[in-house]
Amino acid sequence: MQFKDLQQGVVNNALSYGQKYQIAIDEDFALLKLIEEVGEFAQAVLIHRKKSRPEKHVSEEVSRGELAKELADVVGMTMVNAHLFGIDLEEALNKKWLSQEKK
Ligand SMILES: [Mg+2]
Repeated sequence: MQFKDLQQGVVNNALSYGQKYQIAIDEDFALLKLIEEVGEFAQAVLIHRKKSRPEKHVSEEVSRGELAKELADVVGMTMVNAHLFGIDLEEALNKKWLSQEKK
């Protein structure tokens, strides 16, 4: 699957979510949701590293699965933000992370 196809699928999923729950998927929503997902990833890391209350501790397999899910949410909401702001994320990643220019 190409990056753009993946991004389009994620965006379509977010738009369907918005329709289902009558939520405008606009720039404000997307930014706040991204921050929420970063927080959920942080919580998953704390639980995975057993730096949380003992009652939250789960097996290594389960906590690693939660890490993956929350990191996927962060990337997904990043893709939604890029879409709403008209940013070609693939191009931006290439320029920022892979190009020698790194402007
Ligand atoms: Mg999440």
